[in-house]
Amino acid sequence: MATGRLTIDLDALAANWRALDALSGAHVQTAAVVKADAYGTGVAKAGRALAAAGARRFFVAVAEEGAALREALGPGPEISVFGGHMPGDTDMINDLGLVPMVNSVDQLTRQLEALPGHPFGIQLDSGMNRLGMEPAEWAAVRDIALAAQPRLIMSHLACSDEPEHDMNPRQLAAFHDMTQGLDVPLSLAATGGILMGPEYHFDLTRPGIGLFGGRPFAEAQRVVEIDLPVIQVRELATGESVGYGNAWVAERPTRIATVSGGYADGITRHLSNIGVMFFEDIPCPIVGRVSMDLIGVDVTHLGVEPAALNLLGPEQTVDDIADTTGTIGYEILTQLGHRYTRHHARGRM
Ligand SMILES: *Cc1c(COP(=O)(O)O)cnc(C)c1O
Repeated sequence: MATGRLTIDLDALAANWRALDALSGAHVQTAAVVKADAYGTGVAKAGRALAAAGARRFFVAVAEEGAALREALGPGPEISVFGGHMPGDTDMINDLGLVPMVNSVDQLTRQLEALPGHPFGIQLDSGMNRLGMEPAEWAAVRDIALAAQPRLIMSHLACSDEPEHDMNPRQLAAFHDMTQGLDVPLSLAATGGILMGPEYHFDLTRPGIGLFGGRPFAEAQRVVEIDLPVIQVRELATGESVGYGNAWVAERPTRIATVSGGYADGITRHLSNIGVMFFEDIPCPIVGRVSMDLIGVDVTHLGVEPAALNLLGPEQTVDDIADTTGTIGYEILTQLGHRYTRHHARGRM
C-alpha cells in the first residue's frame, strides 16, 4: 500500500473541545462548528467524538452538510445551518430537524411561511458584510421575527484572529445595539472570540478551527498527522534534476526520496522547492515541483533510508505549512484529499 496515511486523533479533538468549553463560564454553552466535512477531518467520526465529549449543538455551512451530520449523530443534537433557509432546503430542514440561521427578510419569510413553528435562529450583520441582516433590515422585521421565538440570535467577528483590532469592540457594540433588551440566547464568538474573553461569549460560543488544532488557539492539541511512504530512493550526481520542469538541480551528489503524495491529496504545489518534510525531528527539503501523486525530498543528510516521511506532525503544524505557502491553516485542513488511508487514533496523549 502506497497511499499517504492521514491520522486523526479523536481524543485530541475531544480534549480541544473541552479546553475551549472550559474557557467560558458555566452558563455559556459551547457548540462545535463542523462545516466543510469537519474542517477536512471527516464529519461523521469528528461529529460523534465531539458529541461524546459533550457537544450538544453543532453548526454547518449548508443544509446538505447538516444531512450528513444528522446521519452520523442521529436525533438529539441540534444542528444549525449558517447559510440559513435557501430555496429547496425546506424538506431537508423539516425532515432532518435542522435549524436554519436565517439571514435576510426573504429567508425569514420563507421560513415562517414554509415551516411555521419549526425552530430557527437569526443571523445579524455587525459589520463583516458577509451574512446576516443589517441593522435597518432587522429593525423592520424584528417584531415579526421575535414573535416566532427564534432559538438564537448570532453574528460573526471579522477580525477575531487579531484581538487588538478595533473592529472587535466595534462589532461587539453593534451586536449589543441590535440585541439590547431581547430575551433570546445570543452568540458572537468563534475560536478567536472565545480567546478574547467573557464579554464576547454571550450565551453560546461557536468554535471551529481551535477544535482541529489551528491558530489562534495556541494551546490546542494536534489533531491531524500525515505520513507519506517512500516509494523509491535514488542517488543523483551533480547537475541532475528532479521532477517536472527540471525545477531543482543537484549542486552536489544528492540522495532523493520519492514519496507517495501530491497535490491530488491537497498538498499544495506552493510547497515546491520551499517546503520540508520530517524524518523524526530532522527536516528534509522538498525539492522540485510537487506533482499530482509524488514529491521529491532531499534525504542526503539522513544516515538511514526512511520508510516514510512526515508532513504534518510534531515538527510541523498546519499553520507552519500555511505560513510557508501564504495561506491559513483552515485552507490546509479543508484541502485534505480523499486518497489517504485514514486512521482514527485514540489516546495518543
Ligand atoms: C466558520 C465559522 C465559525 C467557526 O470559526 P473558527 O474561526 O473556525 O472557530 C463560527 N461562526 C461562523 C458564522 C462561521 O462561519
